[in-house]
Amino acid sequence: MIDKKSEGLITVLSGPSGAGKGTVLKRVLEIKNDLKLSISATTRKPRNGEKNGVNYFFKTNEEFEKMINQNELVEWVEYCGNYYGTPMKYLLDLIYNGIDVILELEVNGALKIKKSNPECILIFITPPSFNELKKRIKGRGTESNDVIKKRLSESKEEFKQVNSYDYLVVNDNLNKAVSDVISIINAEKLKTERNNKFEF
Ligand code: 5GP
Repeated sequence: MIDKKSEGLITVLSGPSGAGKGTVLKRVLEIKNDLKLSISATTRKPRNGEKNGVNYFFKTNEEFEKMINQNELVEWVEYCGNYYGTPMKYLLDLIYNGIDVILELEVNGALKIKKSNPECILIFITPPSFNELKKRIKGRGTESNDVIKKRLSESKEEFKQVNSYDYLVVNDNLNKAVSDVISIINAEKLKTERNNKFEF
């Protein structure tokens, strides 16, 4: 049995596509280099510049379904026509070794992790308004009109779950959003029940 003080903290970032989660996450990882990223598996095709084993483990449908059947995923979902899931072994190895992990998940996956792991912290990142979200997702130019539509309607659904999150960070200003996320993680690590820096 591992006690809570020596276990790594799990932080989950969610938010609508276009909220800037990816950019916030990248900056947080650059600044907090004791934090490790959990790399998800997906059947989505790689975007320009994305690398297997860095951004995602890119899988075929058959490979992904095999991972599901062999219980290799902590959670998985179907999102906008593709599978996404969190590989179990990597995540558990890290937290049992006291390493803090950050995950970027859509809402259903985040809520599943919270259910099986109530100590984890959920942070919802949002742009300041729905119009701003539309502008950002269109401006990114990486998705077809159909996919943009799907993602925008998915975003509205995701917003409905915002009250299940522990923290809400508005990404109006990137530096502020990054420092908010880091402050949340640092404060959570100082909570009495988690603080392993002091012994009587
Ligand atoms: P994208 O295709 O834009 O990289 O990701 C689409 C959505 O899937 C994002 O909201 C992202 O956070 C989420 N996502 C990425 N990996 C996982 C995962 O392993 N599990 C779940 N539930 N969602 C994921």
